[in-house]
Amino acid sequence: MDMMRAIMIEKDEAGYRAALGDVEVDRLPRGDVLVQVGYSTLNYKDSLAITGKGPVVRKFPMIPGIDLTGQVMQSSHPDFRPGDQVLLNGFGLGESHWGAFADLARVNGDWLIPQPYGFSPRQSMAVGTAGYTAMLCVMALEENGVTPASGEVLVTGAAGGVGSVAVALLANLGYEITASTGRVAELTEYLKALGAHNLIDRRELSQPGKPLQKERWAAAIDVAGSHTLANVCASVRYGGTVAACGLAQGADLPLSVMPFILRGITLKGVDSVYCPRPRRLAAWSRLSHDLEMNKLEAMTNEIQLRDVIDAAKQQINGQIRGRMVININGDVQSGE
Ligand code: NDP
Repeated sequence: MDMMRAIMIEKDEAGYRAALGDVEVDRLPRGDVLVQVGYSTLNYKDSLAITGKGPVVRKFPMIPGIDLTGQVMQSSHPDFRPGDQVLLNGFGLGESHWGAFADLARVNGDWLIPQPYGFSPRQSMAVGTAGYTAMLCVMALEENGVTPASGEVLVTGAAGGVGSVAVALLANLGYEITASTGRVAELTEYLKALGAHNLIDRRELSQPGKPLQKERWAAAIDVAGSHTLANVCASVRYGGTVAACGLAQGADLPLSVMPFILRGITLKGVDSVYCPRPRRLAAWSRLSHDLEMNKLEAMTNEIQLRDVIDAAKQQINGQIRGRMVININGDVQSGE
């Protein structure tokens, strides 16, 4: 195979652009494992990269795509052999190293884990970085002593990828969940089916608020940052924990120390990209027990490589619900 299909992002005097086209395989970056990509997924970060709406791409040209599953074609890494089914989340894939939105990826074998037990390749990409981050957020709450008996847990950006998986996980673990969404009218049924008990309009949280507010939730998972995260911290109960992983509203954090020094709350940052391997494996193992596959399927839509650029624009506009799996060779295999 001399050529492969890939989405390529370029930035030069002509501007910032992403397009699907053919790329010479021998241009792939160095790495000790060559993977034939089977499935990937569209995360918020991929959409920022494709649209240029956020500074995700650190060198150009770049093939985006932070998640992949696929089959090893060639390997000089001691842990992987041709034919192995593998998974990769993060490690700069699609940011500083050519990523998953292509037929092939050549990567560092230390970034790979074996295909997680209990998931088909498609299901593991339905989880993807968003779902695995939701699990890391739940683990962060638990490690700070949060249990279903602690009380209600708030999930912001509940209809998005991280949010949908977080709601499904917490519901299965027995938590009472308040889902904050900008789409209450449209998606009440969807969020209740995932396990949310109460819904609030995200506008309740997105405006500048007081440094200390009425105590409402025992804990929270926040994907929004900015005023939303500040208001969430100001509203969690005494001793509560907030797991913060995102910046869908903004990367700023206009917060006072009051919730920390008067209520002893904990703000726990969650990173998936360089999360150490044992914790990654633990998160995937927990997902295989704690995530109901029928709920995962209900929140997942499948698209093809040719649909990705349009879908990225929709995601940045907040029009995507749940998770989007990319069947890399789907259109080729079906002869479309
Ligand atoms: P999605 O696009 O799937 O979901 C984001 C959701 O955020 C939207 O669906 C919307 O939910 C909500 N939202 C959008 N705009 C705003 C706004 N202005 N104010 C408040 N809420 C808003 O993205 P993901 O779930 O994949 O990712 C969510 C965030 O988490 C992103 O910022 C992403 O970069 C980050 N992330 C971080 C990771 C890490 O390692 N730390 C890993 C994965 C994701 P609704 O329609 O319900 O209101």
